[in-house]
Amino acid sequence: GVSRIHGRVSARLVADQWPEIRPEENPVGFVTNGVHVPTFLHQTWAEFFDRHLPAGWVDRLSDAALWSALERTPDEDFWAASQDVKSRMFESVRGRLSAEFAAKGMSGSQWRQVVRLLDPDRPDVLTIGFARRFATYKRAALLLKDRARLARLLGDAERPVLLLFAGKAHPADEPGKSVLREIKQLMLTPEFAGRIVFLDDYDMRLARWLVAGCDVWLNNPVAPLEASGTSGIKAAINGRLNLSVLDGWWAEGFDGGNGWGIPPAQVQDAERRDALDADAILDTLEEEVVPLYYGAGAGRCSAEWVRRCKRAQMTVIPRFNMRRVVSDYASG
Ligand SMILES: *Cc1c(COP(=O)(O)O)cnc(C)c1O
Repeated sequence: GVSRIHGRVSARLVADQWPEIRPEENPVGFVTNGVHVPTFLHQTWAEFFDRHLPAGWVDRLSDAALWSALERTPDEDFWAASQDVKSRMFESVRGRLSAEFAAKGMSGSQWRQVVRLLDPDRPDVLTIGFARRFATYKRAALLLKDRARLARLLGDAERPVLLLFAGKAHPADEPGKSVLREIKQLMLTPEFAGRIVFLDDYDMRLARWLVAGCDVWLNNPVAPLEASGTSGIKAAINGRLNLSVLDGWWAEGFDGGNGWGIPPAQVQDAERRDALDADAILDTLEEEVVPLYYGAGAGRCSAEWVRRCKRAQMTVIPRFNMRRVVSDYASG
């Protein structure tokens, strides 16, 4: 398995290979995934680490004591680096959208509506990212269960929230394709224009921009179906906060202060389960995420927010990097 939970699920899936023993005792184990840090860490952060950490940090990725020094780095510098990355991500996303709008012959007024919060000169908009394959168990449209509530949350005039989606559905996955179309259509509705943006052609280049540039990385799979959810690791190493159902890697990575962990609803009925999970995430956004991000006033650095972002890097880089993974595989 590629996480502790996934190891348990996998052991049960193949339990009939060893009918004489219980699934927990069969030889299926797990090595929790990690990411290749030099590939997914934005250059701005590499430069920040060069300024504030001992030389050779790149060869000491698993050294938790080294990474704990991030706690003492200046908040203003940390904040400036993270807003700088977001601003460049906005620029890149505008470039993609502009090519798409031109190809489809969309009007100037539609363009202005859609990009109104995507302003590289004003990166202080709380930006939530959701980008992955649109397999149905990942529930891309989960927050739309309560559409009016989501519209209120995103549309707040003082504390705007931008929700960036990107993804691909397998060509044979009709339900996945229909969720994708549903979200894409919201981009031009009066409720969500400029607040929900969907980006086509999800690939590794776009993934790298989004995980580095979005303030919050959302993941809301049906537990326990998310094997790992590796994109969340990519976000955390870039100092971004996961808001995620406690499944896959996040059930091991969440420590109470490096993002938000949503306990999955324990009910059988799928409709009811989805409604409960959606409510729990919207509650957390309204009560914690938005007030914390905007806590110091528009454009200012919220000390508590920055504390959590540092904590995300400090706790996730040493435990979820590819060197640790390879060494776990090697030592069996
Ligand atoms: C990291 C990555 C993934 C995996 O994302 P999940 O969180 O596991 O859904 C998928 N696609 C691309 C392009 C990636 O970079």
